[in-house]
Amino acid sequence: MFLNHSGTSDQAIDTLSNMQLSSTSRENRREKNIISSIHRDNVTRDLVKYQTNAIIVNIDDYHNIHGLRIPTTTSTSAVAHMTTVLAIPIPTATAIPKYVGDNVYASIHNPRIVDNNVLINKIEDRFMALLSQSFNDRFAKHSESDLLDNLTVHCYDIDIHEKRHNRQLNNTLLIDFVELNLHSTEAYIKAMETFASFPEFHEYLQRNVIPLVADWPGQILPRKVITMQQQQSQNIQTGKIPECVSSFIPIMGPLHVSLNSRETVMMLFYDFFNLAYKSIFGKNKRLANKPRPWRINLLLQLMSDAWKNVAPYIEQKFDFSCSRDVEYLTLKSLLDDAIPLVLNVYATIFRSGDWDGYIEACVRIWCLFARFKRRNYNKAPLFFLSDVWYWESISHPILEILKKHLVSFSDYPVENYHSLIRRQTRETDTPEQLSRTARVINCLRHDNVFRDTFVSSTRYPYRKEDLIGLTNRASIFLLELFTDVKNNTGKSKWMNMKRDRNKFSCHLATLNIDVDQRHLPMAFSSEYPPFDPSERCHLQDLCKMLQSNSDPSIPLPCSHVYHQPCLQYLEYKCFHCLKYIKGEINDNVKSIIRRLTGEDNPQIDININQENMVQSADDEPEDLAQQPSFNLETTNQFKSALEQFIKL
Ligand SMILES: [Zn+2]
Ligand SMILES: [Zn+2]
Repeated sequence: MFLNHSGTSDQAIDTLSNMQLSSTSRENRREKNIISSIHRDNVTRDLVKYQTNAIIVNIDDYHNIHGLRIPTTTSTSAVAHMTTVLAIPIPTATAIPKYVGDNVYASIHNPRIVDNNVLINKIEDRFMALLSQSFNDRFAKHSESDLLDNLTVHCYDIDIHEKRHNRQLNNTLLIDFVELNLHSTEAYIKAMETFASFPEFHEYLQRNVIPLVADWPGQILPRKVITMQQQQSQNIQTGKIPECVSSFIPIMGPLHVSLNSRETVMMLFYDFFNLAYKSIFGKNKRLANKPRPWRINLLLQLMSDAWKNVAPYIEQKFDFSCSRDVEYLTLKSLLDDAIPLVLNVYATIFRSGDWDGYIEACVRIWCLFARFKRRNYNKAPLFFLSDVWYWESISHPILEILKKHLVSFSDYPVENYHSLIRRQTRETDTPEQLSRTARVINCLRHDNVFRDTFVSSTRYPYRKEDLIGLTNRASIFLLELFTDVKNNTGKSKWMNMKRDRNKFSCHLATLNIDVDQRHLPMAFSSEYPPFDPSERCHLQDLCKMLQSNSDPSIPLPCSHVYHQPCLQYLEYKCFHCLKYIKGEINDNVKSIIRRLTGEDNPQIDININQENMVQSADDEPEDLAQQPSFNLETTNQFKSALEQFIKL
């Protein structure tokens, strides 16, 4: 339906054919040369225009398989591997210098690469106490943003009407689109050199740096070459790494963090979402094994909104002893913390330019990735946070530019560009044809007629009213689920506890599934997992209230509990979880440094199939009963379900 709708508008085809298609191969070559030289002139002219401004770059790979992302079984020989290099100037920000003032010892590149001590100190000082509140407790104000906009945040297809205002290509500049498989350090050096190959920019790159906003491979591989270049220049050796690589500073792409965190939550809790899906859309349905991004967004959003509808009633029904049940704790942590966090980190917090909120969300999302043991992404936010706090310590001007222009530091432009290219090309196109089309798009990006031809009237498959009805059904699902969870209090069974004290799993009684520490709240990953539901304070022997049962205990989102005075004594920082977080930071930073400074090429660690999930082709939107009574019906059903629940 709307996602694989690949029709290209006639007008755009005409425009492109007039520009590039001709009957003879000689003419073809001539056209190609003209477009190439026009392209180089255009880029030069634009780069010169922004010579005193900050410029951000996106480097990403593109392949000509349409619709699905790279499946594991497809022979890669038939795939054209292309690399896109995009520049996004910020006309209102000055160029970002390599050094603070003329101090060559205050470089934008942290000489320690990633600093575990700074990460530990800042997270302990500034964020540990904030983590004693769930995401929803902290960021409730973000809930009222535009629903349809959030649902289409990972749909880069141009023809989604709702996203039209985001499709501004004016400020995006294609440096080049070339045949290059972006899976080695050498390939990244080539891509970075593409930028440096413009003579007009030699001086710029001597004095300034260009933030490279990219996905995980776009972080680790450029960092590897930058680290090698720095070591090389210290040894005053004539090395093989060109100097220009140190004019780039990799920055974590928020869009990829969002996409990966959403997919990870959906796949880890697949059984839960499959139950929800059946309950909302029909008992005979089954959630696709690898749901598409739009489906993931929809289910996460429905669960998040439904939880807001019912949470106060559910929390009232679970007294202290019921609320210490492991299944309740797991579901609450999923619904009150993980789901709203992955929904909002990019869609609302990053895109609103809320710097403090974004940094806190990055700390929270790292905690989530660490607990999930999500490879690579349990390291990506550490790079970013370590850099930010290093720049803070040397007062590097990039920090002020980041704070003021956060939304420009995005990996969105390249995804948008790729969807444009995808719409204008065929799967059988050669790298040459692809490259030509990309350049033509760049030439025409200021052309209003060209831009308007991409906006068709295709809409998101569900209307706002439908979403209200679906949320009602999701709310009913949660009420029924938590009724069962309450009845099953204490029935979930711990397993494998004897074999390895640090590794265990649990059979959740209501969901009827086995889960491990990745699914359970953070407390279960700490050295002191709260196995005993009757324990009133996890300060153990240090408890200020002598483990009193009469004084109220305060439950934390990590699933530890403390008396109020005990929590005050800890300055609201759960000390078991702080210890766990410190350990995770140390382990991950050690592994990063090994990868960046060791001989082993980090490309071995990058399995593209892991980063590119295959999606089910048959995951199409449901035809909802379009009768006007759908909403009214579900609203009444929800009302009576709620009344019943309250009477329990
Ligand atoms: Zn206590
Ligand atoms: Zn804790």
